[in-house]
Amino acid sequence: LPVVVIAGRPNVGKSTIFNRLVGRRQALVADTPGVTRDRKEGQAIVRGRAIRIIDTAGLEEAAPDTLYGRMRASSESAVAGADLVLFCIDARSGITPADQHFANWLRRQGRPVLLIANKAEGRQGAAAAMEAFSLGLGTPLAMSAEHGEGVADLMSEIVDRLPPTDLPPVKKVTRRSRREDALAEGEEEDVRPPGPLRLAIVGRPNAGKSTLLNRLLGEERMITGPEPGLTRDSIAVMLHDDEGPIQLVDTAGLRRKARIDETLEKMSVSASIEALKMAEVVILVLDATLGVHEQDLQIARLIEREGRCCVLALNKWDAVEDRAVTRQAIKDRIETSLAQMRGIPVVSFSAMTGAGINRLLPTVRRAYEVWNRRVPTGALNRWFEMMVERHPPPLVDGRRLKLRYITQAKSRPPTFILFGTRTDQLPEDYQRYLVNGMRETFDLPGTPIRLLLRASS
Ligand code: GDP
Repeated sequence: LPVVVIAGRPNVGKSTIFNRLVGRRQALVADTPGVTRDRKEGQAIVRGRAIRIIDTAGLEEAAPDTLYGRMRASSESAVAGADLVLFCIDARSGITPADQHFANWLRRQGRPVLLIANKAEGRQGAAAAMEAFSLGLGTPLAMSAEHGEGVADLMSEIVDRLPPTDLPPVKKVTRRSRREDALAEGEEEDVRPPGPLRLAIVGRPNAGKSTLLNRLLGEERMITGPEPGLTRDSIAVMLHDDEGPIQLVDTAGLRRKARIDETLEKMSVSASIEALKMAEVVILVLDATLGVHEQDLQIARLIEREGRCCVLALNKWDAVEDRAVTRQAIKDRIETSLAQMRGIPVVSFSAMTGAGINRLLPTVRRAYEVWNRRVPTGALNRWFEMMVERHPPPLVDGRRLKLRYITQAKSRPPTFILFGTRTDQLPEDYQRYLVNGMRETFDLPGTPIRLLLRASS
């Protein structure tokens, strides 16, 4: 049976979700041979499909003392065997450091994840659920297990994500290529969709997004008009450059005014989230006279976590006095705060006067190419051997980790899978060493790079 694991920090409502899915009467299978006593596990029929459900809450008691230790120990083996992980957060309390920590770990496990914002009853809850986007685990499903809200949605989402029934869950084919192996690990294919490049313009209020948009529309020949079937608000805006059409997404979001119960700050982040979802390339507009604010970083973090490619636009350049210093300071701040933005393309201009604007779209095109790039496996592994030789992976518990080979599973953003023994213990700084090296050797500046770790024997 497909295995669905419910994970998350204590008290987010894992057991309530478990009970909703399994039904209270059909409680736990505690005495199955080979299964620890306190492993809370049940079977459920969801939309006609039988699945095994594991509630990691049942494992927490036996585990080590610290919160992280407890979460880790209770989930590690369960997650490794999961066809789907339901990662739960408490929408009422917002994202806590523990959620963040756990999400980061979970993302590296490479198992399919459905993000659940539980305790999201009512309108307020739905807004809180939006915040969960920032975890980088996809679109959160808002629900209230306690009140029974969103349970039907949950069931549909689960079934949609399970491996199809007509295929055995594990294929025993011996002679697959490494790339096929990688894809079989659950990565999506990365076909470049036909049609125009999809571009979003995001940034804090008053950074100059609307001015930029108008400037781009003024300089380029434009087509605007209400798309049939869409509300008046959403207007499809097309730009054209030498390479073809570019579609600006969510231009309505640019003009959306904050609701009374929203602060301007919150609103610019949530509008950015909407735009990000639809875009391939994102222009992050900064008011260069103000430098980098925490909120700019927050938006940049979202771009990174959603795996979009990003161009940093320094606007109001006409009003900047010490240009070289300003440019370097802003770039440094972004790159030191966000490792994945190293080498991010920067364009400075004045949306108001138009000076420097002509460099923007060519930079967008180049960034898009990087984001779509594929590194040939041969070259990748020659480089990899060199890197491992220069700096062998560290000893963990007195034993050396063995790293075997690396392959690019997909692009958009470039995603690599590293195979080896005990790769789950590979320290973060070694992973960074590899990612940064890759960035330089294969010319992948500014794009998020995903490195997934797989154990192979
Ligand atoms: P948005 O909230 O990001 O859409 O920002 P707006 O486009 O409404 O611009 C906010 C303010 O900044 C307006 O007063 C603009 O005139 C001004 N502004 C926009 N671009 C520039 C620029 O390049 N130089 C200067 N000096 N001011 C600008």
